[in-house]
Amino acid sequence: MVERKKVLVTRDLPGDALSQLKGVSDFLIEPPTQPLSRERLLEVIPKADALICLLSETIDQTVMDRAKNLKVISNYAVGYNNIDLEYATQKGIYVTNTPDVLTEATADLAWALMLAAARRVVEGDKMVRSGNFKGWTPDLLLGSEVYGKTLGVIGLGRIGSAVIKRAKGFGMPVIYWSREKKTGFKEQLDLEYMSLPELLKKADFISVNVALTPQTRHLIGQKEFSLMKKNAIIVNTARGPIIDEEALAEALKTGLIKAAGLDVYENEPDINPELRELDNVVFTPHVGSGTEETRAKMAQMVVDDVLLVLKGQKPLHAIN
Ligand code: NAP
Repeated sequence: MVERKKVLVTRDLPGDALSQLKGVSDFLIEPPTQPLSRERLLEVIPKADALICLLSETIDQTVMDRAKNLKVISNYAVGYNNIDLEYATQKGIYVTNTPDVLTEATADLAWALMLAAARRVVEGDKMVRSGNFKGWTPDLLLGSEVYGKTLGVIGLGRIGSAVIKRAKGFGMPVIYWSREKKTGFKEQLDLEYMSLPELLKKADFISVNVALTPQTRHLIGQKEFSLMKKNAIIVNTARGPIIDEEALAEALKTGLIKAAGLDVYENEPDINPELRELDNVVFTPHVGSGTEETRAKMAQMVVDDVLLVLKGQKPLHAIN
Protein backbone atom coordinates (compact mmCIF):
# COMPACT_ATOMS: atom_id res chain seq x y z
CA MET A 1 0.00 0.00 0.00
CA VAL A 2 1.33 3.47 -0.92
CA GLU A 3 1.81 5.58 2.19
CA ARG A 4 -0.19 8.80 2.15
CA LYS A 5 1.85 12.01 2.23
CA LYS A 6 1.84 14.14 5.36
CA VAL A 7 1.20 17.87 5.22
CA LEU A 8 1.72 20.31 8.07
CA VAL A 9 -0.48 23.40 7.81
CA THR A 10 0.40 25.83 10.58
CA ARG A 11 -2.87 27.78 10.44
CA ASP A 12 -6.34 27.31 9.07
CA LEU A 13 -6.69 29.46 5.93
CA PRO A 14 -9.62 31.43 4.45
CA GLY A 15 -11.59 29.80 1.61
CA ASP A 16 -11.90 26.07 1.02
CA ALA A 17 -8.61 25.34 -0.75
CA LEU A 18 -7.14 23.34 2.13
CA SER A 19 -9.84 20.68 1.73
CA GLN A 20 -8.30 19.77 -1.66
CA LEU A 21 -5.27 18.38 0.15
CA LYS A 22 -7.31 15.80 1.96
CA GLY A 23 -7.81 13.65 -1.14
CA VAL A 24 -4.11 12.90 -1.51
CA SER A 25 -2.58 13.51 1.90
CA ASP A 26 -3.14 13.59 5.65
CA PHE A 27 -2.83 16.64 7.85
CA LEU A 28 -0.27 16.01 10.58
CA ILE A 29 -2.45 18.12 12.87
CA GLU A 30 -5.80 19.77 12.23
CA PRO A 31 -4.89 23.27 10.86
CA PRO A 32 -4.99 25.39 14.04
CA THR A 33 -7.17 28.45 14.45
CA GLN A 34 -4.63 29.96 16.87
CA PRO A 35 -0.87 30.54 16.40
CA LEU A 36 1.15 27.34 16.39
CA SER A 37 3.95 27.55 18.95
CA ARG A 38 7.55 27.07 17.86
CA GLU A 39 7.75 24.04 20.21
CA ARG A 40 4.75 22.38 18.57
CA LEU A 41 6.10 23.16 15.10
CA LEU A 42 9.41 21.47 15.99
CA GLU A 43 7.56 18.53 17.48
CA VAL A 44 5.46 17.75 14.40
CA ILE A 45 7.75 18.79 11.53
CA PRO A 46 9.84 15.56 11.43
CA LYS A 47 7.09 13.64 9.63
CA ALA A 48 6.04 16.38 7.20
CA ASP A 49 6.43 15.95 3.45
CA ALA A 50 5.08 19.46 2.87
CA LEU A 51 4.74 22.56 5.02
CA ILE A 52 2.28 25.42 4.55
CA CYS A 53 3.39 28.23 6.85
CA LEU A 54 2.86 31.89 7.69
CA LEU A 55 5.19 34.89 7.47
CA SER A 56 5.18 35.09 11.27
CA GLU A 57 6.88 31.69 11.57
CA THR A 58 10.65 31.42 11.33
CA ILE A 59 11.60 28.51 9.13
CA ASP A 60 15.31 28.19 9.80
CA GLN A 61 17.99 25.52 9.90
CA THR A 62 16.65 24.04 13.14
CA VAL A 63 13.25 23.43 11.57
CA MET A 64 14.68 22.07 8.34
CA ASP A 65 17.16 19.78 10.09
CA ARG A 66 14.31 18.16 11.98
CA ALA A 67 12.23 17.75 8.84
CA LYS A 68 13.56 14.53 7.43
CA ASN A 69 11.03 14.20 4.57
CA LEU A 70 10.29 17.82 3.72
CA LYS A 71 10.09 18.57 0.00
CA VAL A 72 8.34 21.93 -0.05
CA ILE A 73 7.85 24.98 2.18
CA SER A 74 4.87 26.93 0.87
CA ASN A 75 4.78 30.38 2.43
CA TYR A 76 1.34 31.97 2.68
CA ALA A 77 2.83 35.36 1.71
CA VAL A 78 4.83 36.93 -1.10
CA GLY A 79 7.64 38.08 1.24
CA TYR A 80 9.84 35.20 2.39
CA ASN A 81 12.28 36.87 4.80
CA ASN A 82 11.03 34.40 7.46
CA ILE A 83 12.61 31.48 5.59
CA ASP A 84 16.30 30.57 5.30
CA LEU A 85 16.11 30.26 1.53
CA GLU A 86 19.75 29.40 1.06
CA TYR A 87 19.58 26.51 3.51
CA ALA A 88 16.35 25.20 1.96
CA THR A 89 18.03 25.24 -1.43
CA GLN A 90 21.05 23.41 -0.04
CA LYS A 91 18.72 20.74 1.35
CA GLY A 92 16.81 20.42 -1.93
CA ILE A 93 13.58 21.76 -0.43
CA TYR A 94 11.41 23.91 -2.67
CA VAL A 95 10.27 27.25 -1.26
CA THR A 96 7.16 28.83 -2.78
CA ASN A 97 5.33 32.12 -2.20
CA THR A 98 2.17 33.89 -3.38
CA PRO A 99 3.10 36.64 -5.86
CA ASP A 100 0.70 38.71 -8.01
CA VAL A 101 -2.61 37.77 -6.37
CA LEU A 102 -2.00 40.18 -3.49
CA THR A 103 -0.45 43.02 -5.48
CA GLU A 104 -3.58 45.14 -6.03
CA ALA A 105 -4.93 44.64 -2.49
CA THR A 106 -1.62 45.71 -0.95
CA ALA A 107 -1.32 48.73 -3.28
CA ASP A 108 -4.85 49.74 -2.27
CA LEU A 109 -3.83 49.64 1.38
CA ALA A 110 -0.75 51.79 0.71
CA TRP A 111 -3.12 54.38 -0.76
CA ALA A 112 -5.57 54.00 2.11
CA LEU A 113 -2.72 54.81 4.49
CA MET A 114 -1.49 57.77 2.41
CA LEU A 115 -4.97 59.26 2.23
CA ALA A 116 -5.77 58.55 5.88
CA ALA A 117 -2.50 60.10 7.07
CA ALA A 118 -2.81 63.12 4.77
CA ARG A 119 -6.45 63.85 5.62
CA ARG A 120 -6.26 62.83 9.28
CA VAL A 121 -9.08 60.33 8.86
CA VAL A 122 -8.42 58.42 12.09
CA GLU A 123 -8.22 61.58 14.19
CA GLY A 124 -11.50 62.70 12.63
CA ASP A 125 -13.13 59.36 13.33
CA LYS A 126 -12.05 59.53 16.99
CA MET A 127 -13.37 63.08 17.28
CA VAL A 128 -16.79 62.19 15.92
CA ARG A 129 -17.12 59.01 18.01
CA SER A 130 -16.12 60.73 21.22
CA GLY A 131 -18.74 63.46 20.76
CA ASN A 132 -16.05 66.13 20.34
CA PHE A 133 -17.24 67.24 16.90
CA LYS A 134 -19.04 70.49 17.69
CA GLY A 135 -19.71 71.63 14.13
CA TRP A 136 -17.88 72.88 11.03
CA THR A 137 -15.05 75.33 11.56
CA PRO A 138 -12.58 76.80 9.05
CA ASP A 139 -9.52 75.28 10.72
CA LEU A 140 -10.75 71.93 11.97
CA LEU A 141 -8.24 69.05 11.48
CA LEU A 142 -6.57 70.60 8.46
CA GLY A 143 -4.61 68.03 6.51
CA SER A 144 -2.30 67.92 3.51
CA GLU A 145 -3.45 68.21 -0.10
CA VAL A 146 -2.88 64.98 -2.04
CA TYR A 147 -3.79 65.92 -5.63
CA GLY A 148 -0.79 67.04 -7.66
CA LYS A 149 1.82 66.27 -5.01
CA THR A 150 4.92 64.21 -5.83
CA LEU A 151 4.83 60.50 -5.04
CA GLY A 152 8.12 58.69 -4.40
CA VAL A 153 8.13 54.91 -4.51
CA ILE A 154 11.01 52.98 -2.95
CA GLY A 155 11.24 49.62 -4.71
CA LEU A 156 9.60 49.23 -8.10
CA GLY A 157 8.54 45.60 -7.90
CA ARG A 158 5.01 44.31 -8.42
CA ILE A 159 3.40 46.23 -5.56
CA GLY A 160 5.47 49.39 -6.06
CA SER A 161 4.34 49.46 -9.72
CA ALA A 162 0.69 48.98 -8.69
CA VAL A 163 1.01 51.88 -6.22
CA ILE A 164 2.34 54.05 -9.04
CA LYS A 165 -0.52 53.22 -11.42
CA ARG A 166 -3.01 54.65 -8.94
CA ALA A 167 -1.17 58.00 -8.86
CA LYS A 168 -2.56 59.01 -12.26
CA GLY A 169 -6.00 59.65 -10.84
CA PHE A 170 -4.47 61.93 -8.23
CA GLY A 171 -2.53 63.93 -10.82
CA MET A 172 0.73 63.06 -9.09
CA PRO A 173 4.13 63.10 -10.75
CA VAL A 174 5.97 59.94 -9.72
CA ILE A 175 9.61 59.38 -8.88
CA TYR A 176 11.06 56.02 -7.90
CA TRP A 177 14.18 54.33 -6.67
CA SER A 178 15.04 50.69 -7.27
CA ARG A 179 18.38 48.95 -7.50
CA GLU A 180 18.33 49.79 -11.17
CA LYS A 181 16.38 51.89 -13.60
CA LYS A 182 13.43 49.97 -15.05
CA THR A 183 12.40 49.86 -18.69
CA GLY A 184 9.78 48.12 -20.76
CA PHE A 185 6.64 48.87 -18.78
CA LYS A 186 3.49 47.44 -20.33
CA GLU A 187 1.56 50.58 -19.51
CA GLN A 188 2.45 54.18 -20.21
CA LEU A 189 3.71 55.21 -16.78
CA ASP A 190 4.85 58.77 -16.22
CA LEU A 191 7.75 58.30 -13.84
CA GLU A 192 11.32 59.34 -13.21
CA TYR A 193 14.14 57.28 -11.75
CA MET A 194 16.42 58.85 -9.17
CA SER A 195 18.85 57.99 -6.40
CA LEU A 196 17.39 57.29 -2.97
CA PRO A 197 18.68 60.54 -1.38
CA GLU A 198 17.30 62.56 -4.31
CA LEU A 199 13.91 60.86 -4.00
CA LEU A 200 13.81 61.50 -0.26
CA LYS A 201 14.47 65.21 -0.85
CA LYS A 202 11.81 65.60 -3.54
CA ALA A 203 8.85 63.42 -2.58
CA ASP A 204 5.79 64.64 -0.68
CA PHE A 205 4.47 61.08 -0.30
CA ILE A 206 6.82 58.13 0.07
CA SER A 207 5.69 54.53 -0.30
CA VAL A 208 8.06 51.80 0.88
CA ASN A 209 7.77 48.69 -1.29
CA VAL A 210 11.11 46.88 -1.21
CA ALA A 211 11.52 43.33 0.06
CA LEU A 212 13.17 42.89 3.45
CA THR A 213 16.73 41.61 3.00
CA PRO A 214 19.94 42.19 4.96
CA GLN A 215 20.60 45.11 2.58
CA THR A 216 17.22 46.80 3.12
CA ARG A 217 17.05 46.45 6.94
CA HIS A 218 16.91 50.03 8.28
CA LEU A 219 17.11 51.40 4.75
CA ILE A 220 15.20 54.38 6.16
CA GLY A 221 16.68 55.74 9.38
CA GLN A 222 17.64 59.01 11.03
CA LYS A 223 19.85 60.15 8.14
CA GLU A 224 17.13 59.47 5.58
CA PHE A 225 14.42 61.23 7.61
CA SER A 226 16.64 64.28 7.85
CA LEU A 227 16.70 64.48 4.03
CA MET A 228 12.90 64.43 3.70
CA LYS A 229 10.64 67.45 3.32
CA LYS A 230 8.95 68.72 6.45
CA ASN A 231 5.58 67.95 4.83
CA ALA A 232 6.60 64.40 3.83
CA ILE A 233 4.22 61.53 4.55
CA ILE A 234 5.75 58.05 4.52
CA VAL A 235 3.84 54.78 4.33
CA ASN A 236 5.19 51.27 4.79
CA THR A 237 3.27 48.24 3.56
CA ALA A 238 6.40 46.14 2.94
CA ARG A 239 8.15 44.89 6.11
CA GLY A 240 8.65 46.70 9.41
CA PRO A 241 12.44 46.43 9.82
CA ILE A 242 13.00 48.39 6.59
CA ILE A 243 12.26 51.51 8.67
CA ASP A 244 14.12 52.24 11.91
CA GLU A 245 11.04 52.64 14.13
CA GLU A 246 12.85 54.60 16.83
CA ALA A 247 14.13 57.10 14.26
CA LEU A 248 10.63 57.33 12.75
CA ALA A 249 9.07 58.14 16.13
CA GLU A 250 11.68 60.85 16.65
CA ALA A 251 11.12 62.31 13.17
CA LEU A 252 7.35 62.44 13.70
CA LYS A 253 7.66 63.88 17.20
CA THR A 254 10.10 66.61 16.27
CA GLY A 255 8.34 67.63 13.05
CA LEU A 256 11.16 66.44 10.81
CA ILE A 257 8.38 64.89 8.71
CA LYS A 258 4.63 65.38 8.75
CA ALA A 259 3.00 61.98 9.14
CA ALA A 260 3.24 58.25 8.56
CA GLY A 261 1.04 55.27 7.77
CA LEU A 262 2.19 51.85 8.88
CA ASP A 263 0.87 48.37 8.16
CA VAL A 264 4.04 46.57 9.29
CA TYR A 265 6.28 46.89 12.34
CA GLU A 266 9.86 46.26 13.32
CA ASN A 267 9.01 43.75 16.07
CA GLU A 268 5.53 42.55 15.19
CA PRO A 269 3.13 42.45 16.91
CA ASP A 270 4.90 44.86 19.32
CA ILE A 271 4.96 48.50 18.36
CA ASN A 272 7.38 51.15 19.52
CA PRO A 273 5.56 52.73 22.52
CA GLU A 274 6.53 56.27 21.46
CA LEU A 275 4.91 55.78 18.06
CA ARG A 276 1.68 54.62 19.67
CA GLU A 277 1.37 57.94 21.47
CA LEU A 278 1.50 60.04 18.30
CA ASP A 279 -1.54 61.33 16.44
CA ASN A 280 0.34 61.86 13.17
CA VAL A 281 0.70 58.16 12.46
CA VAL A 282 -2.02 55.84 11.18
CA PHE A 283 -1.77 52.13 11.93
CA THR A 284 -3.21 49.02 10.34
CA PRO A 285 -2.44 45.54 11.72
CA HIS A 286 -0.47 43.98 8.82
CA VAL A 287 -3.47 43.53 6.57
CA GLY A 288 -1.98 44.57 3.22
CA SER A 289 -3.27 41.46 1.47
CA GLY A 290 -6.25 41.21 3.78
CA THR A 291 -9.26 41.00 1.51
CA GLU A 292 -11.50 37.94 1.37
CA GLU A 293 -10.80 37.48 -2.33
CA THR A 294 -7.02 37.80 -2.07
CA ARG A 295 -6.59 35.60 0.97
CA ALA A 296 -8.65 32.84 -0.70
CA LYS A 297 -6.50 33.09 -3.85
CA MET A 298 -3.34 32.90 -1.74
CA ALA A 299 -4.66 29.73 -0.09
CA GLN A 300 -5.38 28.20 -3.49
CA MET A 301 -1.84 29.02 -4.63
CA VAL A 302 -0.09 27.37 -1.69
CA VAL A 303 -2.34 24.31 -2.02
CA ASP A 304 -1.74 24.02 -5.80
CA ASP A 305 2.01 24.19 -5.29
CA VAL A 306 1.99 21.58 -2.53
CA LEU A 307 -0.16 19.27 -4.67
CA LEU A 308 2.31 19.58 -7.55
CA VAL A 309 5.26 18.71 -5.32
CA LEU A 310 3.42 15.77 -3.77
CA LYS A 311 2.89 14.49 -7.34
CA GLY A 312 6.64 14.78 -7.93
CA GLN A 313 6.39 17.93 -10.06
CA LYS A 314 7.96 21.38 -9.80
CA PRO A 315 5.75 23.94 -8.05
CA LEU A 316 4.56 26.90 -10.13
CA HIS A 317 5.77 29.55 -7.68
CA ALA A 318 9.15 28.16 -6.67
CA ILE A 319 11.57 30.86 -5.47
CA ASN A 320 14.55 28.50 -5.44
P1 NAP B 1 8.70 42.10 -5.76
O1 NAP B 1 7.93 42.29 -7.01
O2 NAP B 1 9.65 40.96 -5.66
O3 NAP B 1 9.47 43.45 -5.44
C1 NAP B 1 10.46 43.50 -4.48
C2 NAP B 1 11.13 44.83 -4.51
O4 NAP B 1 12.17 44.77 -3.52
C3 NAP B 1 11.81 45.14 -5.85
O5 NAP B 1 11.62 46.50 -6.14
C4 NAP B 1 13.27 44.85 -5.56
O6 NAP B 1 14.16 45.71 -6.19
C5 NAP B 1 13.37 45.20 -4.10
N1 NAP B 1 14.54 44.55 -3.50
C6 NAP B 1 14.75 43.22 -3.32
N2 NAP B 1 15.95 43.02 -2.75
C7 NAP B 1 16.51 44.25 -2.60
C8 NAP B 1 17.75 44.70 -2.09
N3 NAP B 1 18.65 43.86 -1.61
N4 NAP B 1 17.99 46.04 -2.09
C9 NAP B 1 17.08 46.90 -2.58
N5 NAP B 1 15.88 46.52 -3.08
C10 NAP B 1 15.61 45.22 -3.09
O7 NAP B 1 7.74 41.93 -4.51
P2 NAP B 1 6.25 42.50 -4.31
O8 NAP B 1 5.27 41.48 -4.68
O9 NAP B 1 6.16 43.86 -4.92
O10 NAP B 1 6.25 42.62 -2.69
C11 NAP B 1 7.12 43.53 -2.06
C12 NAP B 1 7.14 43.28 -0.57
O11 NAP B 1 5.91 43.71 0.00
C13 NAP B 1 7.24 41.80 -0.18
O12 NAP B 1 8.59 41.39 -0.13
C14 NAP B 1 6.58 41.76 1.17
O13 NAP B 1 7.55 41.84 2.18
C15 NAP B 1 5.70 42.99 1.19
N6 NAP B 1 4.26 42.67 1.29
C16 NAP B 1 3.56 43.08 2.38
C17 NAP B 1 2.21 42.84 2.47
C18 NAP B 1 1.41 43.29 3.64
O14 NAP B 1 0.53 42.57 4.06
N7 NAP B 1 1.66 44.46 4.18
C19 NAP B 1 1.55 42.15 1.44
C20 NAP B 1 2.29 41.75 0.34
C21 NAP B 1 3.66 42.02 0.27
P3 NAP B 1 14.49 45.74 -7.75
O15 NAP B 1 13.30 46.40 -8.35
O16 NAP B 1 15.70 46.57 -7.80
O17 NAP B 1 14.64 44.29 -8.14
